[in-house]
Amino acid sequence: MIKLIAGNWKMHGTADSLAEIEAVATFAEKYAGAVDVALCVPATLIHRAADTVPGFAIGAQDMHHNDKGAHTGDISAAMLHDAGASLVIVGHSERREAHREEDAAVRAKAEAGLAAGLQVILCVGESLEVREAGREIEVVAAQVDASLPQGEVDPARLAVAYEPIWAIGTGKVASTGDIEAMHAAIRQRLVAAYGEAGAAVRILYGGSVKADNAAEIFAVPEVGGALVGGASLKAADFLPIVEAGA
Ligand code: 13P
Repeated sequence: MIKLIAGNWKMHGTADSLAEIEAVATFAEKYAGAVDVALCVPATLIHRAADTVPGFAIGAQDMHHNDKGAHTGDISAAMLHDAGASLVIVGHSERREAHREEDAAVRAKAEAGLAAGLQVILCVGESLEVREAGREIEVVAAQVDASLPQGEVDPARLAVAYEPIWAIGTGKVASTGDIEAMHAAIRQRLVAAYGEAGAAVRILYGGSVKADNAAEIFAVPEVGGALVGGASLKAADFLPIVEAGA
């Protein structure tokens, strides 16, 4: 399975950053067929980025589940698609926390994203409190069950990102053993939900992925790529991660 290395720029980036996107796109082209690469940029940059690097996967970081309507400040999947995005992140822990997004809302977004033709990266992950209580598998499996899109899915258009909250932006990475155990549990839920297609859905790891730990993480069974935050902002930091995934 080709790995997917996706950058999540979070609330970073203005027009000055287009050169970084161009550098990543040029590098990714060299590895076409060996690794899939995407950058999920702020909504304000999607259109310009997509115009600057046609053919390269530009994504969004959230969306509303409705197509249109009275939702001040929100953006629909159709609008993201129209702006040139080909993928979208849903259910990131920062949105689950700061915007109180529950599993049902995340599922609705994932379903709407797929219906609009976007590739969806659905995020799950446990808090430090849950991990310390030894309940991480149970909690993440429940999140997966309740937030996966229902019905049949094209595995090429869905990825699940396991991002332990305590590993995000902290420099603390889950151990390879912990990643392996969690990814195996997520795989089991995917197969339960989708049968054969569930075996082909990529499971990404996210949380302090850097150039110096990427290769070790990518060697873990069932790791189908990475969702990279801080280290995706500069091409110089991100490209070695892409290379490790190829
Ligand atoms: P960091 O790579 O900065 O830890 O962020 C991970 C993340 O939240 C990606 O979505």
